Amino acid sequence: MPARLIDGTAIGDRLRAELQTEIRGLRDRGVTPGLAAVLVGDNPASATYVRMKGKACEDAGLYHETMRLPRETSETELLAVVDRLNADPKIHGILVQLPLPKQIHTPRVLQRVAPGKDVDGFHPENVGKVFVGDPTGFRPATPYGVQQLLLRSDIDTTGRHAVIVGRSTIVGRPMAALLLQDGPGGNATVTVCHSRTRDIKSVTRQADILIVAMGKPEFVTGDMIKPGAVVIDVGTNRVEDPTTKTGSRLVGDVKFAEAVQVAGAITPVPGGVGPMTITMLLCNTVQAARQCLTA
Ligand code: NAP
Repeated sequence: MPARLIDGTAIGDRLRAELQTEIRGLRDRGVTPGLAAVLVGDNPASATYVRMKGKACEDAGLYHETMRLPRETSETELLAVVDRLNADPKIHGILVQLPLPKQIHTPRVLQRVAPGKDVDGFHPENVGKVFVGDPTGFRPATPYGVQQLLLRSDIDTTGRHAVIVGRSTIVGRPMAALLLQDGPGGNATVTVCHSRTRDIKSVTRQADILIVAMGKPEFVTGDMIKPGAVVIDVGTNRVEDPTTKTGSRLVGDVKFAEAVQVAGAITPVPGGVGPMTITMLLCNTVQAARQCLTA
């Protein structure tokens, strides 16, 4: 029997609807959560992501600003923009869209964002808080979204073997930290694989929950999956396809047609993890506004 589909669009919509209650509560106390996005240069994918985040804020009734800076912007100029946003009381969350142009040292910029406004969860203070399970830390949106997908699909992680393929600071590592936590959506036994892992298939086949974030189109084939496992495909890869109108299509890191025949539940691409990421960014912005009120 084909796997159950985990519908990230529907789960994301429900979460956003629930968030409305808290947004209304904050507004009643005179606070509209505000998000500022900083976009440096003219990378079309980055511009699209920033536009989507702005639209999501508008739809949810959040205040938002996008600072568009030219590609030649110096690090000093960018740091000055971050400083201004750090001091702006209308702004509760700041995201600096990556990648940044070469003349800018990315870690220096990410560390300049005030930890209380770092809704991407990239500042070392938030990385540490998430690692030790401090709920005031901001969880990076993509792994936070994966955890919510599991929780809201009634997939119990307790005592299960979760295998993560990919150890990036944006997805794989924080995913491991969330699944290890002592609480709902945690308590898993976690293995993290990367490009130096030997005989990766023998590891992925042990997974009760397999989370793939590699950036390698359709790398995980059906024979790499334990029958009945939950498969979460974070990968978002555009591949050429002359049969489509645009000449390309999106695929994940998992070969869906094979995996769906073996897995017990699976996320599609698109429509799985993707819609959750922006939803969790909204949740983090609302969390930042709430924490700002109680600080
Ligand atoms: P990344 O920074 O490039 O990291 C890729 C990871 O995969 C690395 O840890 C790498 O290992 C590992 N890897 C690469 N080839 C491998 C192989 N053959 N065997 C085992 N491990 C291998 O990528 P990322 O930022 O985490 O993103 C991963 C994917 O998720 C991309 O497709 C990206 O577009 C997508 N993504 C989607 C969302 C969303 O909202 N849906 C959000 C973020 C990312 P090493 O560390 O050893 O090099």
